[in-house]
Amino acid sequence: MIHVWNHCHNCNAAPIVGRRFHCESCPDGPDNDLCESCYEKFREGKIIHPAEDSSAALLEIKEHRFKVEEGKPEDQYETWLSVGHPTVSAPRTPDYFVVRPIFSSQMDSVIGGYAFVATVEKNGKPLMLTALHVMDELIKKKGIDCSEKNKNYTGRELPAIITHVDIYDIFASNWMMTPVGSAGPMLVLPDARTDGEEPYSDRDIAAFWIKDASNLNPVPLAGQPPVKGAPVWQAARSPKKPVQHLFKAVVVESTDRTLVFKYEDPGEKAKYTSGSPVLNKNGEIVGISVGGGEYKGTLLGHANHVGNIRKHLTGNTF
Ligand SMILES: [Zn+2]
Ligand SMILES: [Zn+2]
Repeated sequence: MIHVWNHCHNCNAAPIVGRRFHCESCPDGPDNDLCESCYEKFREGKIIHPAEDSSAALLEIKEHRFKVEEGKPEDQYETWLSVGHPTVSAPRTPDYFVVRPIFSSQMDSVIGGYAFVATVEKNGKPLMLTALHVMDELIKKKGIDCSEKNKNYTGRELPAIITHVDIYDIFASNWMMTPVGSAGPMLVLPDARTDGEEPYSDRDIAAFWIKDASNLNPVPLAGQPPVKGAPVWQAARSPKKPVQHLFKAVVVESTDRTLVFKYEDPGEKAKYTSGSPVLNKNGEIVGISVGGGEYKGTLLGHANHVGNIRKHLTGNTF
């Protein structure tokens, strides 16, 4: 049994093989999981959890509650590896649509991973979209439970406490010095939740109105999610230099609940890119990147696709 979407933050095993120990107390992120042998070492006080350089280390969590996950049989992932990469050139994308948000609630501010600016209707009002779990540090700090297991969450509690969102040019070498606008209020999306089982990322979404789009270039949402075998590109920071890079991938699974893709170049790893956009060959947005993983040396990603994004946004006027 394996866990393709998780790596062990202590020994870096990817995927985790055997039982996985998932910390539910730490904010959602790349440092939540331990393999079985590292978890035993943690219990014996021989390793540190959360990792010292993780944002969770600053939260002073008293008790770390772990959930055991058994994993999935390995053979079900073989079909993903057999999907070929089509030869298609990358779409043209503008600068200033992928951004870095800082979310604030009164005096508390938390840096989110990625977000992007999109239009739902042609020439409509721009929105900032991201994955809900990129706000998890702030969510946990505020004691709000937006996870799937909280049946009482209505979708209103989090927007009610977000006082403002500052947005920055994520690709600038010193991004904190390059503000490009602000966003808010946060939209009430009644079905948005954190902590879904990967790769079923259909509820992992957060949306904000853009206050001033004069420095931004919104990109339209596609009408439909891409089909299996279609090329897609994730727009994120280049691993080598502070510029936008399009990571080419091919869709290996496209269902109601998820869009799974595998990257063409296993040498270029897009790390910690939750909330970044996934584009089709026309340069339209087909998904919000939510998670990544690895299987037999192939890098994988999954996204909340545009079919579900549009469902969440139903009822708002653009
Ligand atoms: Zn380990
Ligand atoms: Zn923890």
